[in-house]
Amino acid sequence: MKVNLNYAKLADSYLFSTIAKKVSEFIKNNPDKSVIRLGIGDVTLPLAPKVVEAMKKAADEMGVQETFRGYGPEQGYDFLRNAIVDYYKEHRVSLEPDEVFISDGAKSDLGNILDLFSQDNVVLIPNPVYPVYVDTNTMAGRKIVFADANEENGFLPMPDESIKADLIYICSPNNPTGAVYTKEQLKKWVEYANKNNAIILFDSAYECFIKDETLPRSIFEIEGAKTCAIEFCSLSKTAGFTGTRAGYTIVPKALTRDDMSLNKMWVRRQTTKFNGVPYVIQRAAEAVFSPEGRTQIKKNIEYYSENAKIISSTLDELNIKYFGGKHSPYIWLKCPNNMKSWEFFDYLLENAAVVGTPGAGFGDNGEGFFRLTSFGNREKTIEAMDRFKKLFG
Ligand code: PLP
Repeated sequence: MKVNLNYAKLADSYLFSTIAKKVSEFIKNNPDKSVIRLGIGDVTLPLAPKVVEAMKKAADEMGVQETFRGYGPEQGYDFLRNAIVDYYKEHRVSLEPDEVFISDGAKSDLGNILDLFSQDNVVLIPNPVYPVYVDTNTMAGRKIVFADANEENGFLPMPDESIKADLIYICSPNNPTGAVYTKEQLKKWVEYANKNNAIILFDSAYECFIKDETLPRSIFEIEGAKTCAIEFCSLSKTAGFTGTRAGYTIVPKALTRDDMSLNKMWVRRQTTKFNGVPYVIQRAAEAVFSPEGRTQIKKNIEYYSENAKIISSTLDELNIKYFGGKHSPYIWLKCPNNMKSWEFFDYLLENAAVVGTPGAGFGDNGEGFFRLTSFGNREKTIEAMDRFKKLFG
């Protein structure tokens, strides 16, 4: 018996546990101070009423003989796949319902998709980025090369013909930097992937925060992407589904390698290893795409976006350099006075009782940067920015 020794290569996930430890120590030593958390990546607003109504109705159906449902289709019910096809149509992307796979969230599928690829593929991952890409490939023992994201390239690395990559991760809008690729930039990635027989794994978990209609919300807005990309999306941030759990993955039928259809491979993988998303949750997800649901979730996204604006305009006023915040819930700021990420974390906690996330936790290029999120409460976000003004003004 041998365990998967690749697990020994995983870096310990100290980031959020270290933050929690430092914050609880601070609270113990400073019981009179109110701590404001702008570090979390979780949403705080409740589900939209239309979503809750659909969930309740579906729960009632499950208790009635005529409408009870047992095992569902692993790839998702048609009503939800069709709703997503219609949503993509609005962004000029034409999909077939059987190219849409309903999942319990983007994280699961981002990990599970790796079942389709040989272990000896070289993986290109931006640095810094959402840590799941690195960890899932480390678990599988794949060789990882990093695409440097930094101030010089606006945290948007572009293809480098001297690097041979088989699998390419792109996260746009990016977590943690908030940077968003333009269509012209994504076109270059699509050209690189098609030319080099690579596959792009495109994470669009934050697409709903894009306000500029000329910026792509989906890789499939780019011509040629259907022969080189798979897209992962989530209702977590779009509709507050972090605890409800639903997402979707698009695997185009035109995507083939080694005479194998990736779409068919994914059907085979999912029908073998995945039980599908509960009927009740899929009905809730369907309601997200209904006209009333859309209006309701838009209000929540606007609420978070206004928080982001409050944060970014304060940083503008204080002359603190930052990225993101416009088409993203994340504001990625350069630590003032050349402080290192953790140094700034401690400084901010001690002097303003505000908590953020040290950029170094997302890759070594994140050193010297700091992530603030707009998912908090309005009053607290304003109060946190008042404390920034007192500290850095
Ligand atoms: N992709 C990115 C870039 C994320 O930041 C997150 C969550 O924070 C996810 C995917 C995970 O989404 P889900 O909640 O659907 O698993």
